Amino acid sequence: MKLIKSDNCIYAFSQSMQPVETAEPGEILLFETSDALGGQIKDENDTTNLDFSKVNPATGPVFIKNAHVGQTLKVKILDIEISDRGVIVAEEGFGVLPDAIKGFKAKVLEINNGFICFDNITLSIDPMIGVIGVAPEKGEFPTGTASKHGGNMDTKYIKSGSTLYLPIFQEGALLALGDVHALMADGEVCVSACEVGSKVTIKTELIDRKINWPVVETDQGYFILVSLPDINEAFREATLQSVELLSEQLRIPFEKAYMLASLVVDIQISQLVDPNKTVRAFVPKRIFW
Ligand code: CA
Repeated sequence: MKLIKSDNCIYAFSQSMQPVETAEPGEILLFETSDALGGQIKDENDTTNLDFSKVNPATGPVFIKNAHVGQTLKVKILDIEISDRGVIVAEEGFGVLPDAIKGFKAKVLEINNGFICFDNITLSIDPMIGVIGVAPEKGEFPTGTASKHGGNMDTKYIKSGSTLYLPIFQEGALLALGDVHALMADGEVCVSACEVGSKVTIKTELIDRKINWPVVETDQGYFILVSLPDINEAFREATLQSVELLSEQLRIPFEKAYMLASLVVDIQISQLVDPNKTVRAFVPKRIFW
């Protein structure tokens, strides 16, 4: 097993980023991650001097040997261990209700035995990875922005037991991850979730197949993850990708797959608050059995 410590981190996924570690496909990798605020908020008064250049660190990147452009990187998420306290923030000008609050607010959340204490409300944790991606095809994306390379997809199904597939755009793929949440609901409406430090254990594999967008697989099916600035364009692209998948896998004409999608594919929202909005098209596995 290889350990990648949280001080080896990036703030942008770039086509030319340099690896901090090299691994064989199939090797177990343990990523330590800081919370999305870079660990800067220890109590609720720590909001005044926040250094925004330290927000959204992603640990890595790791060069995966023999990972070539055009292949797919399969990332099996084996375990997510989280810290015993989290923080949630809301800020004027951000979130689904940007003018509903004033200034920058933070709330520290204690986590005990798998439960988050939100005042007198107790919530079960459901840890997930907010930021996970590879080097993009061109240029660079801040870690707060999601696109075809992955990044800040803030999708609650990217969790222990799931498998994420990422398109490879650069040799070695260059995998990095961070922004783990103890709990997040679809939409992430106030702009953050229960942000925690973590230890994420994964295993990679290479697949000789090209995909257009990241896909997360659970026992139930496949979620095609599309992130674009305009939510309606994201819905359209996610729908198109799901129809093409049905058409290809079931060997049926596009128009028939389009009708079938209307019966079985759920179009869902992952997050509404990052620069690119993330939507998912859920294709159930039962359709292929
Ligand atoms: Ca995030």
